[in-house]
Amino acid sequence: MVETIPDISIDRLGTDLRELSEIGRAEDGGVYRMAFTEADMEGKAWLEQRMKDAGLETSRDGAANVIARLAGKNPDAPALVIGSHIDTVPCAGILDGTLGVLTGLECLRALKESGQVPERDIELIAFSDEEGRFGGMLGSQSFTGQVTPDTIHLATDPGGVKLADAMGEFGLDPWLALQARRDPKSVAAYLELHIEQGPVLAGHEEQIGVVEAITGLFKWTVSFSGEPNHAGTTPMPMRRDAFMGVADFAHELPRLLDEYGSDRSRATIGRVDLTPGSANTVPGEAKFTLDVRDTDETVMHELAEAARRILNAIARRRGLRSSYEVESWIKPVDCDPALTDMVEAAAKDAGTRFRRMESGAAHDAQIVASICPVGMIFVPSIDGKSHSPAEWTPWDDIEAGARVMLGTIQRIAFSENT
Ligand SMILES: [Zn+2]
Repeated sequence: MVETIPDISIDRLGTDLRELSEIGRAEDGGVYRMAFTEADMEGKAWLEQRMKDAGLETSRDGAANVIARLAGKNPDAPALVIGSHIDTVPCAGILDGTLGVLTGLECLRALKESGQVPERDIELIAFSDEEGRFGGMLGSQSFTGQVTPDTIHLATDPGGVKLADAMGEFGLDPWLALQARRDPKSVAAYLELHIEQGPVLAGHEEQIGVVEAITGLFKWTVSFSGEPNHAGTTPMPMRRDAFMGVADFAHELPRLLDEYGSDRSRATIGRVDLTPGSANTVPGEAKFTLDVRDTDETVMHELAEAARRILNAIARRRGLRSSYEVESWIKPVDCDPALTDMVEAAAKDAGTRFRRMESGAAHDAQIVASICPVGMIFVPSIDGKSHSPAEWTPWDDIEAGARVMLGTIQRIAFSENT
C-alpha cells in the first residue's frame, strides 16, 4: 500500500455534521437528541453506519456506547481511546460533543486512507447520556466501572421516566451496563475534542484551547426558615424574613471567592423558591441552589467551609434557621501533563493560535480520568454560546481543531511507548 501523509477533509466532516444535525431537529431549529429517545437511537445507528463506511470495525457495549476500532500493529498494546458524545440537551445546537465524535471519525478516516498503521489500536467512542438525562454520565461511568445495580435501578429522568423503561423501549437491557467496564490496562490514554462552551477563546481570537484541568463542583440546596407574616402590619425590626437571608448571602459571594477562592472559582445561585410566595406576605421560607466550582479540591473544601460559616452568621443575625443538603460533589481532574504537552505541540505544528486553559464544564474525560491519563482540546464557541441553537464555531477553527486532534493522535498512537 502506498503511504501518504494523512490529512483531514473539512468537506467530509462538514457533510457528517450536517447529516447528523438533521436527526432530532425540531421546528424551533433546536436539536432534541436526548439520551435513549428515538432520535438518539437513530443518531447512534447513523454514526455506526458512517464508521462502517469508513472501513472501521464497530461494536456496542452494554451501556449502548458506540465504538469504532482502527486496528494497530500490536493488538496487545493498550489502545488510544478518543471520543465524546452525540446525545444532546433539549433544544441544543449541532456541535457540543457531536463535533468531538465526528472529528474523531474524520481523523480515523484520514489515517485509514493514508495506509499508515498505528502502533496501537485507536478506538473512537460515542458515550451514552453525557448530558445526564438520567442524572449521571451513564456511558463513561459504565466504561470506567462506576455504575452499580443501585444506580441503574434508581436512575430516573426529570419527567419521572425510569432508565430501565427508556432503554427497554429499544430492546436494551440496562443491567448489561454493568458489563461495559473496561480493563484499565487495555487503555493507554483518552483524548477528547469539545467546543469550549464559554467565551474565553473567541474573546481572545484564539483557535485552540489546550486544556490543563477540568473544574470540580459542588451543588447544595440551602434553606432559610423564618416566619411568614403580613407585609403591612409587621414592623421591619420585628420580621424574620427568609428572603433577606438569601439577599445577604448573595452579597457575601464576591467576598467569599476573594478570600477563599482562586481566579478559577465560580459561585452561582441559579434558583430561589420563596414560601408562601405571595406579594403581600413576608416570606417564611427560602430555598435556593448554590453551585460552586474550582479546579482545586482543597479550594473547594475551603469555599464550602466558609459558605457554611457565612450561612450560620446570617441566620443568627436575621433570627432565621439555616440548613443545607449536598446534592453533588464532583472532584476536579487534571489533564495528563505529557498529553497536554502533546496537544500543545500539535497546536504549534498546525500553526494555530492557542492558549492553555481550564474547562469550566464537565465532560466524559472527567469520568474516564479515573482509569487512564486524559487530554482535551477545545475549539472556540462564538459569543460563548452553547446548549442553544445559536451554538457555533467558525469553520477555520473546526478545521484547526481537527488538525490538532490528528497531530495529537499521531503523537500517541504512532509511538511504541505508552
Ligand atoms: Zn458535551
